[in-house]
Amino acid sequence: MRAEDLLAHDREHLWHPYTSMLDPAPTRLVTGAEGSRITIEGTGPVVDAMASWWSAVHGYRHPVLDEALRAQAERMSHVMFGGLTHEPAVELARRLVEVSPAGLDRVFLADSGSVSVEVAMKMALQYQRGVGRPERTRFLTVRGGYHGDTFDCMSVCDPGGGMHSMWSEVLPQQVFGERPPREESDVEAWAEGFRELAAAHAGALAGLVVEPLLQGAGGMRPYAASCLRVFREVADEHGLVLIFDEIATGFGRTGTFFAAEAAGVSPDVLCVGKALTGGYLTLAATLCTSRIARGLSASDSGVLMHGPTFMGNPLACAVAVASIDLLTGGDWAGEVARINAGLQALHQVDAAEVRVLGAVGAVELDHPVDTAKATEIALEHGVWLRPFRNLLYTMPPYACSDEDVAAICTAIAAAAEAG
Ligand SMILES: *Cc1c(COP(=O)(O)O)cnc(C)c1O
Repeated sequence: MRAEDLLAHDREHLWHPYTSMLDPAPTRLVTGAEGSRITIEGTGPVVDAMASWWSAVHGYRHPVLDEALRAQAERMSHVMFGGLTHEPAVELARRLVEVSPAGLDRVFLADSGSVSVEVAMKMALQYQRGVGRPERTRFLTVRGGYHGDTFDCMSVCDPGGGMHSMWSEVLPQQVFGERPPREESDVEAWAEGFRELAAAHAGALAGLVVEPLLQGAGGMRPYAASCLRVFREVADEHGLVLIFDEIATGFGRTGTFFAAEAAGVSPDVLCVGKALTGGYLTLAATLCTSRIARGLSASDSGVLMHGPTFMGNPLACAVAVASIDLLTGGDWAGEVARINAGLQALHQVDAAEVRVLGAVGAVELDHPVDTAKATEIALEHGVWLRPFRNLLYTMPPYACSDEDVAAICTAIAAAAEAG
């Protein structure tokens, strides 16, 4: 099919994320991708400032990841995980336990980030049943978060300006603390309110779920690292299962391998996804401690009641193993620091606020971005951007050159200037 026919059929039949079916914004055709660039029909190769939504950390068509995928396809693409196992899953679990914060040594392989959060919440609920507190069925979180699009995930997303506010009537009612502050000097005042809120609801709470250090899709907001210790203390004081959702922050994005390390805090449950397979295939994981595993195993069923059809998909696991080996065997920290230095140029953009953390840069305007216009302007500068709300932001592949990062900053500045 020719490009215009493909686009016409796409417009007629396909949903795109958060996009109207009846009056869709323009969609562009991608015909290939290599290194830090995706090739858009009619435009040519452009730097992918979004890393395909945080995931393509090594860039596209990485020879090592391509080879891992091919080699696994020649052995087998998939077998069920009920009663069976395979080397890619075992090798992946081994690596995840090795690289994750201390104590997390039980691994559930899920097929998407949202599912891994569902599993984490289910672990917390079943744990509370197992330890004799079945009345604890709610979750504590903070405003400004994002944890996925399925129903329990939506219930802990920001209840106001978030993507899911229209669902408040049908969602489980969770407990929301104030957004954690950016500055360390504001942590004490915030913590006081957060502790009071936790104490007031403790008898009904199963767990505490947050994105550590950086709230991503909810607004690209970094916050003070010492808030993580407050989360740990509150969870310990009230017997809550502490869940860190590192689906966006994991694998080096914020400057440490996991964001939790910024404060030396280990959660009871950890969710990873997005960059897990270097952006090749859909895969996520929920890790928990032996204490949580033992607790939930004492619940009525004795087992974790979850098991997706494509659990532990061997193709995805094999690529994830190769991706983690590329990171741990390479200089991801140096790359992230280099990109961070390049992104500092964003501070020159005339905007309401500019935030840079690790290999993440966000420019917040004082009005909603005209997405179609901003996208067009960025493409004229050779960069793919996908702004939302008031935000022009980037989390590029670590494989970006200094010139790529400079181009991204220039494109964001131009898009901001145009409004
Ligand atoms: C993207 C994201 C999710 C959801 O992952 P999906 O793979 O899109 O289901 C959950 N939590 C965070 C922090 C995310 O960034």
